[in-house]
Amino acid sequence: MMTSQQYIDRELRYGAHNYHPLPVVLERGEGVHVWDVEGKRYYDFLSSYSAVNQGHCHPRIIQSLIDQVSKFTLSSRAFYNNVLGEFEQYLTSLFGYDKVLPMNTGAEAVETALKLARRWGYVKKGIPENEALIVVCEGNFHGRTITIVSMSTDPDSYSHFGAFTPGFVKIPYNDAYVLEQVIKEHDSHIAAFLLEPIQGEAGVFVPNDGYLAQCAALCKKHNILFIADEIQTGIARTGKMLACDHENVHPDVLILGKAISGGVFPVSAVLADDNIMLTINPGEHGSTFGGNPVGCRVAITALDVVKDEKLAEKAQYLGEIFRKQMAGINSPLIEQIRGKGLLNAVVIHKDAKTTAWDICIEMKEQGVLAKPTHKHIIRFSPPLVITEEQLTETIRKIKKAFDKYK
Ligand SMILES: *Cc1c(COP(=O)(O)O)cnc(C)c1O
Repeated sequence: MMTSQQYIDRELRYGAHNYHPLPVVLERGEGVHVWDVEGKRYYDFLSSYSAVNQGHCHPRIIQSLIDQVSKFTLSSRAFYNNVLGEFEQYLTSLFGYDKVLPMNTGAEAVETALKLARRWGYVKKGIPENEALIVVCEGNFHGRTITIVSMSTDPDSYSHFGAFTPGFVKIPYNDAYVLEQVIKEHDSHIAAFLLEPIQGEAGVFVPNDGYLAQCAALCKKHNILFIADEIQTGIARTGKMLACDHENVHPDVLILGKAISGGVFPVSAVLADDNIMLTINPGEHGSTFGGNPVGCRVAITALDVVKDEKLAEKAQYLGEIFRKQMAGINSPLIEQIRGKGLLNAVVIHKDAKTTAWDICIEMKEQGVLAKPTHKHIIRFSPPLVITEEQLTETIRKIKKAFDKYK
């Protein structure tokens, strides 16, 4: 039998070094738990970056995968298939849009939204060809393609990957006044404003109440598309189906991914109304696997699970408990605890000798898996199927990890 270290060494030897994982090798998952190759059980407090909101290997989702893969896996969009339409109808009625465009990964869906916004800007808004601008926020994370890292303000994401895609204006997050100034400055050239309702990768940065609504109103007033990247915040993670729901904002373009398929199959989607979506015509955009029957079937079930198990309500309720109990840890290392629903972060004092990585290693020893985002922030995002008892038990373990560094 191979040890964890042997698995790790093999990955290091043969795999690209584009990640720096915690030294734990997982082989099984069920609900809130994962097991390593030595049989040790952990609480998963990352949930694969919020892709596994429904819990690992949810039996209903797995069953729908098995049923569908045994029957038909890929039609390509050269032909129709009998599941895509059902998925499209389900998604559009659930989120209140005319149309959906299915893709696979989050980055592809973001790219799709950018293309859609530019296309709409030219054919509907009348922006002069090749002059469309899209406003984005500092600290954003929208994925890893060349165009997407062109929007990034994180040197790790963009350094030495140029030349970059032009046409982006970067403004501070959580400042509607700056958005208004930029709109005044660039006037009629702005096609869209793209943002995360909560910046997840940046360290769970929650904007002030009212920010989303103010931005959406500004966009509406100036005929600019408001695009929400809810790939991480959506699907019940923050205590509502969408984080935008907290401010009753209905984005013009909605980007979903990650938990839309419960972490079982890569599915992403862009939603918009006809006046936007129908600006893209046959042959002008697509993906071989996008809209495949397996992904569609899995996503329908994964969203059914979110509704049937009332995961949004659970995230809202348990999130309050999480932040309250975490505040009780009372560690001198902790500067701040912030978040919404079950998307939370603990900020470690920047000048502390103990890093977020150190704490994550100690939590792993205690049987809790979480990952630092940046040097001094730990994100906590357990599967939403977690019970109150399990949450309390985990926080006791987290406290032990912090207490070690008293
Ligand atoms: C994860 C994520 C993406 C990228 O999704 P991938 O599936 O990794 O391409 C984009 N935006 C946000 C907000 C994300 O959290």
